Amino acid sequence: MTFVRQNLGGWGNCPVLPCAVARPDSVANLGAALTQGGQRDYIARGLGRAYGDSALNRDSGVLSSTGLNHFLEFDPQTGILECEAGVSFAEIIQHLLPRGWFLPTTPGTKFVTVGGAIAADVHGKNHHVDGSFGQFVLSLKLLTADGSVRICSPTQDSEIFWATVGGMGLTGVILSAEIQLLRVESAYYDVTYRRTGSLDQTLEQFAATDSTYRYSVAWIDCVARGASLGRSVLMLGRDVAATDLSPRLRRSPLVLPEKRIKAVPFNFPSLALNSWSVRAFNGLYYAAHGDCQKLVDYDTFFYPLDGIRHWNRIYGQRGFVQYQALFPRETSREGLVELLERITRSGRASFLAVLKSSGAAGQGMLSYLFPGHTLALDFPNTGRSLLPFLQELDAIVLRHGGRLYLAKDACMSTETFKAMYPRLPEFLAVKQRIDPEGKFMSSQARRVLGLGGN
Ligand SMILES: Cc1cc2nc3c(=O)[nH]c(=O)nc-3n(C[C@H](O)[C@H](O)[C@H](O)COP(=O)(O)OP(=O)(O)OC[C@H]3O[C@@H](n4cnc5c(N)ncnc54)[C@H](O)[C@@H]3O)c2cc1C
Repeated sequence: MTFVRQNLGGWGNCPVLPCAVARPDSVANLGAALTQGGQRDYIARGLGRAYGDSALNRDSGVLSSTGLNHFLEFDPQTGILECEAGVSFAEIIQHLLPRGWFLPTTPGTKFVTVGGAIAADVHGKNHHVDGSFGQFVLSLKLLTADGSVRICSPTQDSEIFWATVGGMGLTGVILSAEIQLLRVESAYYDVTYRRTGSLDQTLEQFAATDSTYRYSVAWIDCVARGASLGRSVLMLGRDVAATDLSPRLRRSPLVLPEKRIKAVPFNFPSLALNSWSVRAFNGLYYAAHGDCQKLVDYDTFFYPLDGIRHWNRIYGQRGFVQYQALFPRETSREGLVELLERITRSGRASFLAVLKSSGAAGQGMLSYLFPGHTLALDFPNTGRSLLPFLQELDAIVLRHGGRLYLAKDACMSTETFKAMYPRLPEFLAVKQRIDPEGKFMSSQARRVLGLGGN
């Protein structure tokens, strides 16, 4: 199996690191790459949608799983799908939505692999009701450091299972998984849009609707200040039964008409996104969304950014970091106010800011969410001044008992990570047992575990 030296980035293109990449097209070749690849250590990579350095390994091995992209078994009665880890959510939707099955939960892009979704224990707009993706993984096959394959599930080798769900590829390479899909009658959602004038109103709306809407998300105007701080457009969604569709849509309720996809053809100059353009965009977006109710297809509702391929290029060659912070319910108001005030004061307006309500914690030892509110923001990479600013934000998040999401992170320090993830010792004990020599390692892991050389 050949390893090709390549400069790789995550979705934020920050950092971009030299890695040795192998693209095996079978489980046997993947095993050979791991046992005979001659690299210092290895990390699995799916579609590279983690924003930072989770799927990067400076000067060492990256094992792409996208060649493992076969559907293995599907039971149309129960909706249980067994597939290889490189199958993407887009492929699952393409093949199984027409048969009445959808993802039980999904991140804001469908261009993620099943392996990447398990490794990050991803969440969607329904976390407050359904939890994260790991809840729907019935079992998985894991290629471990000694080259053996282990089958694990919540009842078989459960410690390894819950270290792997949310474990960011550090326990081994997920080869395949059995997942429980969600039965749906249509490809459409009934979406209520509500505009709020302040953060308090936004949080009140979440509290009032968490038990009545399966899906919710708020777009926050993160340049608004004073009494308008945290004003937002809340989107509340429900699944739609086929019988509730118009006669035209009822004819094929599970199939969408073909859409034209736009693309950003090249990296924008770094000046294109500045505080003025972001302010203008935020103002316009807020003004354009009054209170209303609409029928929206799944693509528009779950994946608005997928409509513009390579949208990350608008941040230019230097890229950007995404910063996703979670605050416990009890402190989220104070934490969010402090965070948003610090951001508006800095003049580093985020182009997109998305707030979600989160429910019960997943069982993954490093899973991200627990009950509270999670805010995701983008910051252009402005070079050396960015890190101290993010560290100030980290301190705010820590002070309020919150944490950052590994799938978005590119900068978190060792001390911050240890303080934010109290189950880390439990995770490390499992890793030590099945990977004593640290064969699975990423640049992010070296940084957050304080191992140096990331
Ligand atoms: C536009 C956009 C919106 C997003 N919205 C959300 C959201 O709403 N909620 C959310 O939770 N996340 C969100 N994400 C993040 C994304 O869901 C996760 O980063 C996901 O892990 C990406 O999957 P991937 O296949 O691209 O994995 P990669 O980015 O390639 O890898 C991510 C991690 O998974 C590990 N991994 C990948 N494949 C395997 C495997 N086969 N075995 C073991 N480990 C593996 C890698 O080592 C790495 O640690 C979003 C990302 C983008 C770009």
